[in-house]
Amino acid sequence: MKKICVLPGDGIGPEVVECATSVLRAATDQLEFVEGSIGLAAHGERGSYLPDETLDLMRSTDSTLFGAVTTPNQPDYVSPVLTFRKQLDLYANVRPVRSFSRPGSSKPIDVVIVRENTEGMYTQNEVFDDSGVTTVRRVTRRACERIVDFAIDYALKRGRQKVCCVHKSNVLRASDGLFLSIFREKMTSFGRSLKSEEQLVDSAGLMLVTDPGRFDVIVTLNLYGDILSDVAAGVAGGLGFAPSGNIGEKHSVFEPAHGSAPDIAGKGVANPTAAILSGAMMLRHLGMSAPAMSIERTVASVYQSGHLTRDLGGRHGSKSFTEHVIRGLKALDSL
Ligand code: NAD
Repeated sequence: MKKICVLPGDGIGPEVVECATSVLRAATDQLEFVEGSIGLAAHGERGSYLPDETLDLMRSTDSTLFGAVTTPNQPDYVSPVLTFRKQLDLYANVRPVRSFSRPGSSKPIDVVIVRENTEGMYTQNEVFDDSGVTTVRRVTRRACERIVDFAIDYALKRGRQKVCCVHKSNVLRASDGLFLSIFREKMTSFGRSLKSEEQLVDSAGLMLVTDPGRFDVIVTLNLYGDILSDVAAGVAGGLGFAPSGNIGEKHSVFEPAHGSAPDIAGKGVANPTAAILSGAMMLRHLGMSAPAMSIERTVASVYQSGHLTRDLGGRHGSKSFTEHVIRGLKALDSL
């Protein structure tokens, strides 16, 4: 039995997380869920966007399923997401994006973006002076090594063929140059089993749109990975297609890559696919590959049958889409 911390958060977070937990319950009886609070509601109730009790819960459970939070317009706001990534040392952000074959689907894409998750532009070190603001961007050898090792290991374990390093070392010669040189060093040992590629981040953005099939696994720095995973999700059909995992040595947090979408919150129309697939990623991470695969296959077949949510031009709301997934899982079970 695995204990899962559930953090619904704000906006559409609670809506998509409820869909994901009901799919997980249908896929396995080996999970126990414990709910914690994060974001605006946590701040309202406990005066903190990430209360200590929530962090303790995240530490004491086997993994966390998180929805999304809304960023308030407050100058002293510290993101609870960046905080838990640092506090739990979740150094790898993994975002697999694949298009499901469906009526009206766009170019096929099946890419995994592995992004350094603890430093780069996200150290939030911004220094004001009379002329403006200086943002400190930190790139350390240790973080580069860890993320490149992670990407190579991920690619080998998942039978992927190629790892592409995305960087901007023609401009950021020292920092991105360090990242690229570590990538080159590490990849030399895998010449036979993994192809190696390098792309500047601007070219990679173009190619993801014009020729997405050329990419397999991308390893990149924090901000580039954040932007490119939304580009990839756009190619696949929308933000509903981008699940993610924040992974460290001891802890893990799985979340849809999208935000709290206040424009559609409360309407029951959010596409829950990214949250459901984040749940499947969590199962796989916990060694529960069979139910993970059942969820992934069932979601793919629901798309193939043309059951689409409104963001994809369909008529389904979050709940009725989820009911189709649960029905598909039960049908698999009875085979
Ligand atoms: P967003 O991802 O919330 O939404 C962008 C657009 O995509 C919106 O039009 C939204 O309706 C649509 N969208 C997002 N998820 C969808 C889904 N599942 N189904 C259908 N449509 C979906 O990004 P935003 O609007 O830039 O940010 C909204 C809030 O979320 C902000 O406060 C932002 O800071 C926060 N945010 C939080 C996280 C997080 O918690 N990890 C990540 C990104 C943004």
